[in-house]
Amino acid sequence: MSAILVLAEHLKGEVSEISFEMLGAARKLGDELKTPVLAVALGRDASAVAAKLGAADSVLVVEDAALEVPTVEVTGPVIQQLMEQKQAAIVLIPGTNLAWGLGAKLAALTKLPYVNFCHGLKVDNGAVMVTSQLYGGKIMADVPLAGNRGILCVLPGSFPPDAGKSDKAATIEKPAVNVPAPKVVFKKYIEPAGGDVDITKQDVLVSVGRGIQTQDNIALAEELAGVLGGAVSGSRPVIDQGWLPLTRQVGKSGMTVKPKLYLALGISGAPEHQEGMRGASLIVAVNTDPKAPIFDIAHFGTTTDLFELVPALKEAIEKRKQGA
Ligand SMILES: Cc1cc2nc3c(=O)[nH]c(=O)nc-3n(C[C@H](O)[C@H](O)[C@H](O)COP(=O)(O)OP(=O)(O)OC[C@H]3O[C@@H](n4cnc5c(N)ncnc54)[C@H](O)[C@@H]3O)c2cc1C
Repeated sequence: MSAILVLAEHLKGEVSEISFEMLGAARKLGDELKTPVLAVALGRDASAVAAKLGAADSVLVVEDAALEVPTVEVTGPVIQQLMEQKQAAIVLIPGTNLAWGLGAKLAALTKLPYVNFCHGLKVDNGAVMVTSQLYGGKIMADVPLAGNRGILCVLPGSFPPDAGKSDKAATIEKPAVNVPAPKVVFKKYIEPAGGDVDITKQDVLVSVGRGIQTQDNIALAEELAGVLGGAVSGSRPVIDQGWLPLTRQVGKSGMTVKPKLYLALGISGAPEHQEGMRGASLIVAVNTDPKAPIFDIAHFGTTTDLFELVPALKEAIEKRKQGA
């Protein structure tokens, strides 16, 4: 019976959310197709990572220092061998900076079709249908997967991660594979500039866009974030202007965030921005343009001028906190 492989992404021992998203989506697909779901954990500490992947039917572990970072030239042939051993017809890989490029390499090695920017997966009368997000989200294309075979590169934020998490003890397999010698060698991991907040871990984000007008006005958002117990993030133009550090950028070329509250101030909601924040539990948009696309995904919105709203909101929250 053919299998579905899911490449687990991990960094410094932490399994990233996209891995659980993919596992959950694969689990659903596997149940419908009556096909086993096998997670793949590669790298020096792959066994420790594998223990967290109990949602898979089993985890294929290849522990090798050459797989420490998923370099395409090494990871590609290793996954190809695992596919052959397990007769895998569908492989899910994360559409992230770590694994980008691997899908195309794998498709070339296996001659299987490759669907990038995978945002949805379903089975229709036994046939797998993949929704691919094109042009930064302007077009959603439904792609039938011929013969239910293919390499899928999954966009982070497309599936609920909880569906891929399980307390079940993982069944570990250690298949014998030939790991090619890497031409690129991992030397050390360099942390991004320290001292800044990690916006991916915040429950509350007050996010500013070009509507904030000047760097000085960012203080308004900082004050509001302060009373809400959150942090300030921004759209790309705000970061490009140097008004906030790169670590605060939300979107396609920035961070993917999932706070409990995302307050978008003066952000139009371009597809590239939405890509990084549409997974927030509650989106509140403040934008003077009623036709701004941010309102398409916001749970609540107002066309009030942010410069009127923000000080009034801050004052109201402070009063409420003081019990007035
Ligand atoms: C390959 C690629 C990658 C990209 N990556 C990213 C990314 O990671 N993140 C990202 O954000 N963008 C990204 N972009 C850019 C993206 O396309 C948009 O240009 C950008 O998101 C727009 O930012 P904005 O909403 O702040 O500005 P604008 O689109 O200019 O919107 C400003 C909004 O503020 C509103 N406004 C103005 N004054 C006020 C006021 N006083 N009160 C209330 N509202 C007001 C306006 O009505 C307007 O809707 C990327 C683009 C490309 C091509």
